[in-house]
Amino acid sequence: MSKIWVLGDGQLGAMLRHAGMPLDVEVCPIDINADVLPELSPEDKVTAEREQWPSTPVTQALEQHPNFLNRLVFPKLADRVTQKQLLDDLDLSTAPWMVVSDGVDEASIHQQLGDNVLLKRRSGGYDGRGQHWLRSCNNDKIPADWHNHAIAEQAINFDEEVSLIGARDIKGNVVFFPITLNLNTDGILMATVAPVDRIAHLQAEAERMLGKLLESLDYVGVLAMEAFRLGDSLMINELAPRVHNTGHWTQAGSSISQFEYHVRAVAGYPTIPAQIKAPSVMINLIGTPWDERWLAIEGAEVYWYGKDHRPGRKLGHINFCSSDTAQISSQLDQLKDLLPEQYQPAIQWVQTNLTP
Ligand code: ADP
Ligand code: MG
Repeated sequence: MSKIWVLGDGQLGAMLRHAGMPLDVEVCPIDINADVLPELSPEDKVTAEREQWPSTPVTQALEQHPNFLNRLVFPKLADRVTQKQLLDDLDLSTAPWMVVSDGVDEASIHQQLGDNVLLKRRSGGYDGRGQHWLRSCNNDKIPADWHNHAIAEQAINFDEEVSLIGARDIKGNVVFFPITLNLNTDGILMATVAPVDRIAHLQAEAERMLGKLLESLDYVGVLAMEAFRLGDSLMINELAPRVHNTGHWTQAGSSISQFEYHVRAVAGYPTIPAQIKAPSVMINLIGTPWDERWLAIEGAEVYWYGKDHRPGRKLGHINFCSSDTAQISSQLDQLKDLLPEQYQPAIQWVQTNLTP
């Protein structure tokens, strides 16, 4: 049977392994700092659960494998400069931007991009880390060591955030999930809802955009596209060459989850369209200690990652899926009582956006 090595051994790798089991595909996530090198066979496949990695004996060994899919896509998307250039080259809408190179100062950034600008580290940022606001009204400054290591993006006054997850198989067939509605608070994903009827009319345009990317990158597997909705148009925020947090709801709401799609595509199996079961919700568990009472909520599908507790860290998530959205709503009311205060607005946001 097929064996897939995953560079990185966080929760995404674990959920890929979980998804491989029913297909008898052995998915082996591997810690990039492991002491023991993986025993790679020529017919194995290699993928990654992160877009960037340091050079270690393990990553060197995996990188040399001829079946490392999308190998050249990772560095292109891991650097925000080359990622934004790709979007510009393909004529895909994205926030106006510039490189924060040596000669660039605050005044020139504001002159080019306006009063409100978001600086983003070129690489390594996630969950809103590696970002710095530059507002002319506050006289904000570029942080000391950010020159040459950041891009500047115009602040986008979007209506809301959405994402599209697509998969492409080895023969070039593409499949997409329904657009997902996302709530990010302080740069970190709190919750998602999908499918949402009122944004369904944007599906074709979102698929056109992501489809163009999948084709042009000759991509195999799952690719995620985060976007801003501005009225009836979409602007791409960023891309991730992997399974994505905004697709976790598919574990509950789709006959084929994003993890299974990625396993299928990498293993060389076909990626047929999935059946979407019913409206689905995902709530991220961020910095919250484990609470066994979550397991007593009917309908709650709990995923706990077993990571060390740290404030602001994603430690797990809970999925709900039901055609009876009033039922999901009351299950969320139960969950609300078991989560810290800062979850109240997120849960209310979900309840508001659940299509009856
Ligand atoms: P990360 O890798 O941390 O997810 P993102 O680029 O997605 O980085 O930024 C995180 C969040 O910050 C986004 O989901 C969005 O809420 C906000 N954000 C990002 N870019 C902009 C922008 N140009 N204007 C306004 N808000 C933004
Ligand atoms: Mg993001």
